[in-house]
Amino acid sequence: MARKYSLCRAAAFTIAIAGLGFGCTGKDSGADTETLTVEGRGGDTAKWWEKLPRAQWANYERVAEGLEWFEAYRVFEGVYAIYEPGQFEEVISFLIVGETRALLFDTGLGIAKLRPVVARLTDLDILVLNSHGHYDHIGGNYEFSEIGGLDVDYARAQAKGAEHEYVAEYVSGDWLWKQTPDGFDPEAYEIKPYQVTTTIKDGDIIDLGGVRLEVLVTPGHSPDSICLLDRAGRRLFTGDTFYLAPLYAHLEGSNVADYRASIDRLAALEPELDHLLTAHNVPLAEPAYLSRVSAGFEAISSKSAAYVETDGAFEYQFDGFSIIVPATEP
Ligand SMILES: [Zn+2]
Repeated sequence: MARKYSLCRAAAFTIAIAGLGFGCTGKDSGADTETLTVEGRGGDTAKWWEKLPRAQWANYERVAEGLEWFEAYRVFEGVYAIYEPGQFEEVISFLIVGETRALLFDTGLGIAKLRPVVARLTDLDILVLNSHGHYDHIGGNYEFSEIGGLDVDYARAQAKGAEHEYVAEYVSGDWLWKQTPDGFDPEAYEIKPYQVTTTIKDGDIIDLGGVRLEVLVTPGHSPDSICLLDRAGRRLFTGDTFYLAPLYAHLEGSNVADYRASIDRLAALEPELDHLLTAHNVPLAEPAYLSRVSAGFEAISSKSAAYVETDGAFEYQFDGFSIIVPATEP
């Protein structure tokens, strides 16, 4: 994974010169069960896709069959995971359908049009919220007219999109392994700008009719990270704040202290949760991971955990996930 990691660092470097922030998500727990150890990020960078398909996906009903680039699954009644296994990030966007409207949590890479996929799953009006502004979560925002966002500088900067030179790498070489859709030109790949139409803030309740989602502002991975809490459904949509793979607290815009505080806040919700819905690789994880990540940050802070050094950052490995922090931390 060292090579992928280098690319992430390169991406982070562009932020300093371009004012554009992008992250990428590490590989890779197999995550076929919830107790696998994160696999090494050593030299075996190529052919990440040989781990696919990940077994957890077989648990869910495939819907909207025949899609060109995406795969769509019903994870729960009214909750769809829209997955992009053809690119290294294996990003997952979630469509949550209520009785009166629907919420799309992230819009993926922007390699294929997402709106027609969503239209096959619901004809209700769509509100888009992004778990955060990294390129792999906002690529399809431009296709939608109602978009909520935090009133923070980072989110505003991301809404300006990203020109090809800043995202070209993510559609080159080993980043892609599947045929891209007809009409997609890697040489022209960019993140299109979009208009935020509604400001959201911590504690906001979004009522979809029969489904109420609470906005939790959880900075750390990025300054604009949010989670969505469905209290009645006992579910938390975590974005990149938690998934079963290396957690990135080292990118430009990341903040280890903020990340830890956000995780502690989420861990306090653990007794109220049955499921975490995560934004990469596989859609579900056990809520117990939140307190394990909290303990992980504590171990890092107290220097009681071992790490490996990769490209100038420190990666601390735990059971099922790892945490990567800048070498300057704590
Ligand atoms: Zn991210």
